Order: sequence, then C-alpha cells, then structure tokens
Amino acid sequence: MVDKEKIRKAVRLLLEGIGEEADREGLKDTPDRVARMYEEIFGGMYEEPEEHLLKTFTADSSDMVVEKDITFYSTCEHHLMPFYGKAHIAYIPDGKVVGLSKLARAVEVYARRPQIQEQMTAQIADAIMEHLKPKGVMVVLSAEHMCMTMRGVKKPGSSTVTMASRGVFLQEERLQNQFLSMIRL
Ligand code: ZN
Repeated sequence: MVDKEKIRKAVRLLLEGIGEEADREGLKDTPDRVARMYEEIFGGMYEEPEEHLLKTFTADSSDMVVEKDITFYSTCEHHLMPFYGKAHIAYIPDGKVVGLSKLARAVEVYARRPQIQEQMTAQIADAIMEHLKPKGVMVVLSAEHMCMTMRGVKKPGSSTVTMASRGVFLQEERLQNQFLSMIRL
C-alpha cells in the first residue's frame, strides 16, 4: 500500500516550499488528510484490471456491446492535478461477455493511478483485448484537465478526446462510425 509517512513528510515540505507555515491551525492536519486521500485516489496502483475482466460468461452473440458515459476521475502525472470525464467502451464479443459494471471497474483501476489520458485509453483497450479476448474493442475518453483549465491555457469546459481501437475496430471503419454515432461526442 502507499507509504503514508512519506506522503505526510512530502506535503509538509510542499507547504513550506510555497511559503506557508505548516503548523498553523488550518494546515496542521493537511499532510495526514492528503496522505489518506492519496491512498484512495491512487489505490489503482495496487489493483489489476483482470480482477474484474476475468469474470466472464458465455454468449453466442457477436453483436457490439457498448457501455457509455462511465464517469471517471484521474490524476495527471505531469502536474498531479485532476482530470475527469467520461469513458465509452465498445467491444465485439468472441464467445464471452463481461458484466457491464466490470468494465467500469477496469476503468477505475487505471484512473486511480498517476496518468496521462492517451496512455489510460490504450491501457483500457489493451486490458480488454488481453483478458476478455473479444474480436475487437474501441475506447473513447473525453475529459477536462484541471492543469489546463485552472491555469488558463485553455477555456474552462474544453475537453480532450482520446481514442484507441483494437482488432476488428481497426479493420472496419463501419464499426468505429457506429460506435461514435452512439456516443455522439
Ligand atoms: Zn497536467
């Protein structure tokens, strides 16, 4: 698990670094609060997606399965600031399907790590290919990055969209378009 003592020390140094009095009333419990919060928001470091993706059941259908609007909260690894938004996943089963809540769980495993959005998109797609072994998968993430909007580089509310396609989604543009029209970004 996370080393909370290290985090506490680091947060104290951070506060001193910006010129704060780390011992003043409002801040004295902050290092411990942050340490406990980090244990939760970086809990994905100690989990693997297959814990969820291997809970499959048999299905004859090879029609597209879509789970859209999966809300996620992650942390940008460049600035340690939140980015958050929606994940949308489509896959074409090859004899097996997974409970829809398990896809959301897999998203959460990767969201709760220091991340960049492009990498997280690819990791979700690759984990589904590896463990569920469908004919293909496509993952779309749409997110607002606080490190951009809070610093005024971009306008608030603007979003970054990333996509990853694997298997038949790479070969058949028709499938990509069908999925994209369903999520209407
Ligand atoms: Zn950032």
